[in-house]
Amino acid sequence: MRDVAEHYGLHINRAGFANCPFHRERTPSMKLYDDHFYCFGCQSSGDIITLVEKLFGLQPYEAAKKLQGDFGLAEVPYDYETESKAYQERRKSVQKELEFKKWKSAAYLILTDYCNLLRIWKEEYAPKNDDDTFHPLFVESLHELDKMEYYCDLFLYGTDEDIRKFKEYEERLVKRIADRIRDFKQSNMGRTNPDIGNER
Ligand SMILES: [Zn+2]
Repeated sequence: MRDVAEHYGLHINRAGFANCPFHRERTPSMKLYDDHFYCFGCQSSGDIITLVEKLFGLQPYEAAKKLQGDFGLAEVPYDYETESKAYQERRKSVQKELEFKKWKSAAYLILTDYCNLLRIWKEEYAPKNDDDTFHPLFVESLHELDKMEYYCDLFLYGTDEDIRKFKEYEERLVKRIADRIRDFKQSNMGRTNPDIGNER
């Protein structure tokens, strides 16, 4: 992937990012992985063939031919069936990887959003007098905050393997949290306190 990108004029920095050729930008936001690229700015993504397709406006087959020519790859007898099967497999696995990455960044935003809300609720709705009844949002923060902070740390410091495990068990939890945040923001409480939950 990197060799191909550099061959066609992309400059890859030490962190593995390049200026995206598919949208205007000054700070590189296209990441080059071993087998695919992904732009965090415009979400364009794909493997080497897609890159060449997009750069030169080619069809996949022409793009593959161009790669073959530009990189001096020998013409090998082409077994269409095996090759296209292998290509489909690769495409599928790259696609899966991309979906995971998308889910990962969305889930991280949801979790940090919820953490922020919980922290605010814990302060804002803490009982002021000994005989105050506990506000439900305060109670929710007591129940959830530690766990959510742990999950945020997992996303920050965990490996992709850890996060894949988390996804396997807790994908629905993340969905529920997203619903919870939306409900809160649409509720009276969320609307009449515009500062709460809108700091992002
Ligand atoms: Zn881009």
